[in-house]
Amino acid sequence: MNKHMAIAIDGPSGAGKSSLARRCAEQQGFLYVDTGAIYRTLGLAVLRKGIDRRNENAVMELLPQLKVELKYNEEGEQRMFLDGEDVSSLIRQPEISLAASDVSAHGRVREYLLEMQRKLAREFNVIMDGRDIGTVVLPNAELKIFLTASPEARAQRRLLQLKEKGTEVSFDEVLKDIRYRDEQDSSRAAAPLRKAEDAVLLDTSDMTFDESYQALCDLIKRRREELTV
Ligand code: C5P
Repeated sequence: MNKHMAIAIDGPSGAGKSSLARRCAEQQGFLYVDTGAIYRTLGLAVLRKGIDRRNENAVMELLPQLKVELKYNEEGEQRMFLDGEDVSSLIRQPEISLAASDVSAHGRVREYLLEMQRKLAREFNVIMDGRDIGTVVLPNAELKIFLTASPEARAQRRLLQLKEKGTEVSFDEVLKDIRYRDEQDSSRAAAPLRKAEDAVLLDTSDMTFDESYQALCDLIKRRREELTV
């Protein structure tokens, strides 16, 4: 079987993983997989059904009843579908971030989603971003990157993104949300956010978007060169 190359990018929310990884994937001809979008879709489903998202059994009971699909459109853009509905924009709302963070804390929920993520890495060259890609989902990835930035730098960037989309929130609200998710993602028992031992650390606090993009793409290019030598 043809072996594909996998690049794992992990890090806290708002570090710019998605926008940077998407661009680098495009440049390198890799499939970009945003795993946070899968958790967000579950978060939306749980909110809609009104079930207690902190109750693992209740969430697990719901999962087999849902049809969660990850598809790519003609532009190669990842879209998320919930029971046939394209929810890609809806899942970007701030309240969905919190619901996603809550449902993602359940070990059985994470296990349920493992195969969906691994299957993509078996079938394509992927750049996959998330929280536990290098540590749990793809421990044998050819390159692991832990992409981070200070909470303040991340809040500032997230605020700009939300404003561009017309969502009115304050810096303090965004910072509070980022700190809450950092704490929850790093302290949970199931696959907590942490840097894999063999991951390269990339701190973009003092970098512009273009500098971060260059730094990330350089790491990827260098690793690909090493592997072809
Ligand atoms: O990356 P994004 O912020 O869209 O992810 C939403 C939430 O999903 C995160 O706060 C995190 O709790 C969870 N998540 C996760 N594991 C992943 C990706 C996301 O636990 N691989």
